[in-house]
Amino acid sequence: MQYAIDLTGNKVKASPSGTAICPNCKADLTPKCGQLNIWHWAHKGLKDCDSWSYEPISEWHLKWQNYFEKELREVFITKGYETHIADILTEKGTVIEIQNSNISPEDIYEREAFYSKMVWVINSFDFKHNLYFKQFPPEPFEPVWKQYIKKHHPNKTIGYSITIPINDCNGQILSALKKCDYIREFDDETDSEYWFNIKNSTYESLDPLIVNAFVGYLIDCKFRQELERNKIYHTNFKWSHLRKTWRTAMKPIFLDLNNGFLFLIKTLYENGNGFGQIVSRQIFLKKYRG
Ligand SMILES: [Zn+2]
Repeated sequence: MQYAIDLTGNKVKASPSGTAICPNCKADLTPKCGQLNIWHWAHKGLKDCDSWSYEPISEWHLKWQNYFEKELREVFITKGYETHIADILTEKGTVIEIQNSNISPEDIYEREAFYSKMVWVINSFDFKHNLYFKQFPPEPFEPVWKQYIKKHHPNKTIGYSITIPINDCNGQILSALKKCDYIREFDDETDSEYWFNIKNSTYESLDPLIVNAFVGYLIDCKFRQELERNKIYHTNFKWSHLRKTWRTAMKPIFLDLNNGFLFLIKTLYENGNGFGQIVSRQIFLKKYRG
């Protein structure tokens, strides 16, 4: 949990020497303030008072919670003998579940049944390159390829040198390069920075992660250039390598495209084809935050 209750009854974030209790079971909580995970509160021992297993809080998760007032984040909801923590409970009583990782169909069913009035916001970071919006196809790859991915390292004879576009604002390309063990180098001649890994000698051998990151970048460019933030766009789409569990969801699903826009899935067929709406984060927040 990001929040607990202190002695004066206020909602507080975890700090290394902080003491606080669980808003639900009133047990003393331990602050977890390490280097790896975002600082949070944990129940002593292994047992959490909420039986649902939650994913660790990510930067993305935090960003979404922070769009809403503190009082609306991590709200305990009790129905009968069951209590669960809703990521966000809007003033109009809608639960927004912020989902960064995969979730089982059983968990989807349970949460939808318990909260009833709810929507999902799902991070598309790992699969955005698999989303193809038919009315808004990304540009052909070639010009991007020539501009940012060069066949030769300035000083060596094999391998690709990759420059990160300035507006890779989600860090998708940077993250892919790091995952593929590329290292940062500097070209004195052009006075520019680039990333290099000797193992890739042909186009085909370039890591799919990097190609995918550039496809994600093209989607971002398209949306930034062509879409207005106060309009809703309808489009057919294709989700290749569809995460089938999401077909079992009955409540609205918004895929966060991490570029200021979300994709609301209206219909989703087994083959990954479907229909939906592109809405800006601005429109989404206006609807749910008021
Ligand atoms: Zn508790």
